[in-house]
Amino acid sequence: MNIGLDVGSTTAKVVHMEDGEVIFSKVVPSQRWIELIDDEQGEKNIVSTGYFRKKVPHFAAITEITTASLGARYHDPDVQVIVDIGGQDTKVIDLRNNTFVINDKCSAGTGAFLELAAHYFDIPVGSLGELHSQATKGAQINNTCGVFAISEMISQLVGGFSMEEVIYGLHQAFALRIAQMVPPADTVMLIGGTVQNTGIVDAVNNMLDSKIEVPGAPQLVNALGAALYMERLNDSR
Ligand code: ADP
Repeated sequence: MNIGLDVGSTTAKVVHMEDGEVIFSKVVPSQRWIELIDDEQGEKNIVSTGYFRKKVPHFAAITEITTASLGARYHDPDVQVIVDIGGQDTKVIDLRNNTFVINDKCSAGTGAFLELAAHYFDIPVGSLGELHSQATKGAQINNTCGVFAISEMISQLVGGFSMEEVIYGLHQAFALRIAQMVPPADTVMLIGGTVQNTGIVDAVNNMLDSKIEVPGAPQLVNALGAALYMERLNDSR
């Protein structure tokens, strides 16, 4: 058994692999990571990653840069750039020259920003994509820093834009912020929990000239990469 355990700042994810195939996966809030570990499996088969990787049982702890590369290439061996939009930070990894940039200074361009907006509208974050698709135009939003964006949202709502149009505009502003971090590339893969929001994928797709790829389970890519790394370690033992 090869176990990848990704304990990020917002959620914890586990992927079990056997013979190169994923046989189990699960996501829980980060503080409940213990629910993902079975004592009988022991830590000798676990590779951990994510912000809290060193705080959880592991045989090896590796960065999300390594796990994202392995996990993304599992889905597309030719992918050039990875954009990982997590709960508290966004990472852009250029696989052509092994460089990366990270934005973790404020909530702009992270899941936390969209959670703030969803909280303001009193809707689940999972419904933002559907509401985005119902808008035919977007309200102009320029700020992606939490409180400033909320006051811009309110002013656009007062000015007559609908909730759907404001959400569309927020996604545009978010995508612009992301696009500024992404180098020109043929293929860009979006991963992380936030890209389950189809509005974000749509907005990024409209913003970049690259072919945009979203794997089946984008939130699990780093845990998958960690499980693949464990598989390599086990193969070489
Ligand atoms: P991290 O690894 O940094 O803990 P994740 O990659 O697990 O973060 O992403 C967590 C983010 O994904 C949260 O901000 C959450 O709001 C967002 N998210 C989770 N599910 C959905 C969904 N269905 N639609 C939109 N966003 C989602």
